[in-house]
Amino acid sequence: MQEILIVGAGIIGLSIARALRKEGVGRIKIIERKKTGKEASFAAAGMLAPHVEAERKDAFFKFCAESNKLYNEFVSEIFDETGIDVEFRANGIVYLAFTEDDLKKLKHRYEWQSKAKIKVEFLQAHEIRRIEPFVSPDVLAGLIYPEDGQVENRKLLAALERFLRSSGIEILQDTEITNLIARNSKIEAVETKKGERIFADVVILASGAWTSLIRLNNQSLTLSEIKPIRGQMIAFRTTKKFFEHVLYSPRGYVVPREDGRILVGATVEDVGFNKEVTNFGVDFLSDVGLEISPSLSNLKISEKWAGLRPMSSDGLPVLGEFPEVKNLFIATGHYRNGILLAPITAKVIAEKITKNVDSEYLRLFSPSRFLIG
Ligand SMILES: Cc1cc2nc3c(=O)[nH]c(=O)nc-3n(C[C@H](O)[C@H](O)[C@H](O)COP(=O)(O)OP(=O)(O)OC[C@H]3O[C@@H](n4cnc5c(N)ncnc54)[C@H](O)[C@@H]3O)c2cc1C
Repeated sequence: MQEILIVGAGIIGLSIARALRKEGVGRIKIIERKKTGKEASFAAAGMLAPHVEAERKDAFFKFCAESNKLYNEFVSEIFDETGIDVEFRANGIVYLAFTEDDLKKLKHRYEWQSKAKIKVEFLQAHEIRRIEPFVSPDVLAGLIYPEDGQVENRKLLAALERFLRSSGIEILQDTEITNLIARNSKIEAVETKKGERIFADVVILASGAWTSLIRLNNQSLTLSEIKPIRGQMIAFRTTKKFFEHVLYSPRGYVVPREDGRILVGATVEDVGFNKEVTNFGVDFLSDVGLEISPSLSNLKISEKWAGLRPMSSDGLPVLGEFPEVKNLFIATGHYRNGILLAPITAKVIAEKITKNVDSEYLRLFSPSRFLIG
């Protein structure tokens, strides 16, 4: 029986491991350089926002929308498997305009998205204040994307970890893979920072923003550099329920959680492997939150954090078999959408490995595209 080794225990690695197990794969091991699910996937806001974030109706939009459709079944199954409610809510995301310039862009957005048959409804200011009374009275208009929503990503990570551990899948923490050893176009083993070798029949790199640090026979690995893009977030805590929906503005967003936290995100910064929370970041996020709802000024910031999004050179995911190394797969570059894209990524990678199914997405997001031109 073949052994599959997954490098990285973020949402992508954990979801792939689960999908492989459900496809009947017996021997799966996950290697994690730090602790399970504590990097970008933990830092995320958990928005499931394919429509609100659509800039055009292209293949990437289709990929995101398809993953969004898989979420209901994904989280229901996980609830049955683990008893953990991951607070999946598909109750719509509201996009808000506060300035004349915002309003102009919002109208343009509404026009092209309606024409493209993306589900979106226009809301007048009074309609927004009726469904969300704590939104600023300065709001000019808005859009609601009824199919978008959110999931509590930290609970989702905990649920995936519980499922995998109860299925006997080993997660080896505090173990960093630095090099892949290949012979005759085939990976034979992976090498840890301490020089130990772990043998595997198939290796999947789900190593997020750190993927480009891994070497193949001591040479650079990826065809496209995967860059870390920092996102800072803050959270307020309240006992009173302020908001029903995720609220989005051109400058950031507010995500209400069931436990009373209100998250505000996020910065987008190209500063290398630096997870520092800065005064500038906190001030920026406070302004984002207060513009959406001045009522937040009565609350204290209860948490601040930052995470590193994995971004490829064209900003799109990198998925599938590595060129010229048959038993090496990659699943990264999910950038701002890795929580949303976990179910579909897990599906296409697991089906490729177990049934040799070539999804159109493996062609579109293949690592080979960086060889062309
Ligand atoms: C502030 C912020 C807000 C976000 N909001 C959203 C959102 O609302 N919705 C959404 O869909 N997405 C969001 N994202 C993006 C999303 O978080 C990422 O796309 C997603 O988490 C990527 O998942 P991953 O498993 O690839 O990466 P990670 O969660 O970073 O996991 C990769 C894992 O691999 C491990 N690893 C790396 N290298 C090695 C190695 N050599 N050996 C062993 N282990 C290794 C790391 O330690 C890490 O645990 C947000 C991101 C940030 C930072």
